[in-house]
Amino acid sequence: MMSQVKFLLDESKIPKDWYNIIPDLPFPLPPVYHPVTLQPVSPEDLAPIFPMELIKQEVSTERYIEIPEEVRKIYKLWRPTPLFRAVNLEKYLDTPAHIYYKYEGVSPPGSHKPNTAVAQAFYNKLEGVKRLTTETGAGQWGSALAMACNFFKLECKVYMVKVSYYQKPYRRSLMEIWGAKVVPSPSPDTEAGKKILEQDPESPGSLGVAISEAVEDAVKRDDTKYSLGSVLNHVLLHQTVIGEEALLQMEMAGEFPDVVIGCVGGGSNFAGLSFPFIREKFKGKKIRVVAVEPESCPSLTKGVYTYDYGDVAKMTPLLKMYTLGHNFIPPAIHAGGLRYHGMAPLVSALYHNGYIEAVAYPQTKVFEAGVIFARTEGIVPAPESTHAIRAAIDEALDAKEKGEKRVILFNLSGHGFFDLSAYDQYLSGKLEDYFYPKDKVEEALKELPKI
Ligand SMILES: *Cc1c(COP(=O)(O)O)cnc(C)c1O
Repeated sequence: MMSQVKFLLDESKIPKDWYNIIPDLPFPLPPVYHPVTLQPVSPEDLAPIFPMELIKQEVSTERYIEIPEEVRKIYKLWRPTPLFRAVNLEKYLDTPAHIYYKYEGVSPPGSHKPNTAVAQAFYNKLEGVKRLTTETGAGQWGSALAMACNFFKLECKVYMVKVSYYQKPYRRSLMEIWGAKVVPSPSPDTEAGKKILEQDPESPGSLGVAISEAVEDAVKRDDTKYSLGSVLNHVLLHQTVIGEEALLQMEMAGEFPDVVIGCVGGGSNFAGLSFPFIREKFKGKKIRVVAVEPESCPSLTKGVYTYDYGDVAKMTPLLKMYTLGHNFIPPAIHAGGLRYHGMAPLVSALYHNGYIEAVAYPQTKVFEAGVIFARTEGIVPAPESTHAIRAAIDEALDAKEKGEKRVILFNLSGHGFFDLSAYDQYLSGKLEDYFYPKDKVEEALKELPKI
């Protein structure tokens, strides 16, 4: 008997509200501090960077926040996204476990990121903003924001980490097709960029540097605001459409997951899938939730839970989070994405308080899982997403060993069509594991703010 493999919802089932986990947290969320005064930040402090509606959402205690009709209309281009049961992967693993995945790669830029990009562009447009700046590493976020700005007729300037700018020219093309202006970071367009270029003209750049440039650009111009693709509460909020849809689809499948899994860079796709399930966990459902990160950038499993800046130039507010230090840059041989030094404060707090688990994998193990997945399920996953696949496979193998029927749900956050050079490296045996860079982390942690 062939099991059903695909669970589809019609357009009317696109969620009408985002789920805000903050009022349901069984513990208080630590305050956010101003980077200079070291006092708690006020909405006015954030007003030069973000539109007021997003600042409100950042600190909202409303459990549900209505999704504007204009945003839902654009969501309809790719939402609801499909939920699949990975029957071929189950067969390959010969496991009694049932493996489900929510596929966010069907969006035009190929990942979950437009779920928040569209919302952010909408609120900026509503408040009269003309231009948005942002940073991008591999280019996923930059391309999502470029598409969103294009829909709302906003200018978009993307500071793209220099190594990626040259290594991933097609992500840059995509951003330019959607009308964005893309420069390699560090760039001569900002003081932060100039300073780094003076010290090291060959600097490969990093997300922390690119954030500094994008924030500085936004603060300097009245018509411009800044947009962030992960980490912050309002970004995680917008991603909860993933989990709300998945809850309905699991119901169609007649099952409830025993374990929910997502890869974590800044934490947004993981939160998007898992927070609606954690809501059910708070109500008493038995469920494990697992965040998966690379061993070469292990903020949850090897970082420190403390206040840190979000960027190198120390312009962002201080967030309490698991961090490897704001100057931490993962080794160049790391090919799997998820390179941010910190972790979303909400994800960090849930981990610190024992509501979620975390696991770290070396890159050859995750690419191996990505290739197994492509060969069984057909989809070539984004390198980031292969971390979640690895953990799902290991859960299924553990269930097999214990003879358990375990229901596993993971987020397939994007496709890997722009990451084929990383797969090439893996397939030709050139990808090496680089374990926990202890010295680099210790060095970066010396520069944590004293608060
Ligand atoms: C950006 C990205 C991630 C990591 O970011 P999160 O905020 O942790 O979700 C994961 N997967 C894909 C496909 C991405 O583009």
